[in-house]
Amino acid sequence: MKLFRSLMSCCIVLFVSQTNGAQITAAKTSAPARLSGYTAQSSSPEQEWEKKFQDGIVRENLRENLRRMSARPHHVGSPYDKDNAEWILSKFKEWGFDAHIETFQVLFPTPKERLVELVQPTQFRAKLQEPAVPGDPTSSQASEQLPTYNAYSIDGDVTAPLVYVNYGSREDYEELDRLGVSVKGAIVIARYGENWRGTKPKVAGEHGAIGCIIYSDPKDDGFYQGDDYPKGGWRPKDGVQRGSVMDTDYPGDPLTPGVGATADAKRLPISEAKTITKIPVLPISWGDALPLLSALAGPVAPEKWRGALPITYHVGPGPAKVHLKVTSNWDTKPVNDVIATMRGSQAPDQWVIRGNHFDGWVNGADDPLSGMSAVLEEARMLGELHKQGWNPKRTIIYCAWDGEEPGLLGSTEWVETHGDDLQKHAVAYINSDSNGRGFFRASGSHDLEKLINDVAREINDPEKNIPVWQRARLSRIANAKNQEERAEIRKRADLAIGSLGDGSDYASFLDHAGISALNIGYGGENDANAYHSVYDDFYWYTHFIDTDFSYGRALAQTGGTAVMRLADADLIPFEYTELAETIGKYVTELEKQLKEKQDEITERNLELKEGLFSAVADPRKTSLPPPHETNPPYMNFAPLKNGVEAIKRSAERYESAAAKAQADDAPALSPQSLDSLNNDLLKIQRTFLTERGLPERPWFKHQVYAPGAYTGYGAKPIAAVREYMDEKKWAEAEAQVPAVARVLEQVAAAIDKAADDLHSATASGH
Ligand SMILES: [Zn+2]
Repeated sequence: MKLFRSLMSCCIVLFVSQTNGAQITAAKTSAPARLSGYTAQSSSPEQEWEKKFQDGIVRENLRENLRRMSARPHHVGSPYDKDNAEWILSKFKEWGFDAHIETFQVLFPTPKERLVELVQPTQFRAKLQEPAVPGDPTSSQASEQLPTYNAYSIDGDVTAPLVYVNYGSREDYEELDRLGVSVKGAIVIARYGENWRGTKPKVAGEHGAIGCIIYSDPKDDGFYQGDDYPKGGWRPKDGVQRGSVMDTDYPGDPLTPGVGATADAKRLPISEAKTITKIPVLPISWGDALPLLSALAGPVAPEKWRGALPITYHVGPGPAKVHLKVTSNWDTKPVNDVIATMRGSQAPDQWVIRGNHFDGWVNGADDPLSGMSAVLEEARMLGELHKQGWNPKRTIIYCAWDGEEPGLLGSTEWVETHGDDLQKHAVAYINSDSNGRGFFRASGSHDLEKLINDVAREINDPEKNIPVWQRARLSRIANAKNQEERAEIRKRADLAIGSLGDGSDYASFLDHAGISALNIGYGGENDANAYHSVYDDFYWYTHFIDTDFSYGRALAQTGGTAVMRLADADLIPFEYTELAETIGKYVTELEKQLKEKQDEITERNLELKEGLFSAVADPRKTSLPPPHETNPPYMNFAPLKNGVEAIKRSAERYESAAAKAQADDAPALSPQSLDSLNNDLLKIQRTFLTERGLPERPWFKHQVYAPGAYTGYGAKPIAAVREYMDEKKWAEAEAQVPAVARVLEQVAAAIDKAADDLHSATASGH
């Protein structure tokens, strides 16, 4: 143990000498002498076991896991998806976990008819097919590949003039209005990127379009970025991005919102499922898009709208006229989650949960198996430690989710089915998904910000041989927009983690069940992109992404260490001052958003009054002035600010109680009082929930963390207020403020209670 400690301090000295010491004095850069949530006595064995765990992660195992699981296409309901589930199950059992498969029956549409053709002014029929690449052995498994499509598109058969809408965001339609172009009755073609793909048909439909085509422009992920596949790793001419366009009312099975899709669950008729698109939508390659875009006339697209194809981008409408036909088999398919448990030795009713999905759109090497391979290697090594005598205090549950790609099906149905138990027992959920080369990244609930920072300080970056934490921090400084941002990063003890939307399986845990959650991974140096195509396979991944699995190893080390740290802690290491600070930032953002909108609209109304738009418009082009808007009223954010202050105060009280309880001269707390304290702590995150949920999306119960209705994967903190502001519904936005503020007061009270209990347990010495 001594040896380990002194080794650690060597690293610290090295680290400080490599950075600018003066600027980081405020930052707690050293590994803590004592782990947060542990006593001096319990820290040492924990650190020894964690070190053993990290050293035991083997890159070759990750490669073999990836090779095995990506050998054939494995989408929901396919034979190899089932085969993988059974293989994963057998592995968990082999490693000593108590494991089973839990099956749900979910609506999963697969393509029946797909047609995109140009019918005027010339004729062209889109190929809608990704050819095999010589040398890439799994790209030719056509008989098992799911054809290119967007899952949960409504069936439709439409013929109409075509309009190019850039990324298809709400702002893009405002631009179209100014160009005098309407999409009413038209089929739109949007490029992938910027926003979540499901936003494109949703916004198109709201503007009166009757069909939507989404294509991958080479500027965004093809030859403009780098050599395309197979010479390089970027999306080739015929590569298509599949993906779900399920609407954002709720994730999971469209027929069983809010309840588990068990065999006997009550199901909605398909016609009543709210998450199926309103207009038909199909994805295509740039090879198929080029003839369509070339046939457009009308205004030349604004400069920012132009991609990398060798044409002048026009907006339309027409003369290109397109026939789009999409029909699906609307079948119910099984999703098979693999759930593996290692029972806790002292607090078996407190659960630490770790997961990754294993279903892919096709061979899915990067997404999701690069993450799943690491998670399996973690589980193997934890099993190995268990055999060597390591006994986690809390129960550890490893989950391999099925059906993530279509709409977080496996995780959502599992959380909905076990909601009551999870709310009683879950400590935290740690997710990963695709993993690549580069910088450590984490998002999550901010009660876990300190924990994941502490863990990242101890993981070695395989390319630079410095802690991944240090590399992430320096890359943030390098990429900061201005001096203010750089100063903020340097001043802060921990790296700020992002907030979660609904891009992966953490959504139901945090947003619906109020379980503290993290999403972790590595990336930023991937000079390649074959996302959701047949080319995301073993050959491609091992040539262009994490070729030697060294970042897969880092992910397993990070995820497993976080699991161990949470499972063994005397006092669960939640931290609330960073949480309070972050919510405070969200409230400041709301104020800023209002102010910016007010300024913007005031300025525009003035310009309208001055006649600016008609004076500067080129009379040979259509350029309409923007509409006059009424200026947003001032809003009262004071209740939210008071709520934040209350959380800040209780967070400080809790920190000082925790510091006292863990001081060297503090009396040891009895197992009983620790157990009851921890039971209270793990439920604090639940106090962010309200029964009624978000005003227009009741499935989303959390009042601080939520994805946006128009951003999909992206987060919209304090969505109840912010989304109405986005829609310029100011009165509705303000009406939400008191309810969210009450939730913040509730959270503060729960933290206060924990502080009181901890304080009196320490004072009385039991
Ligand atoms: Zn994924």
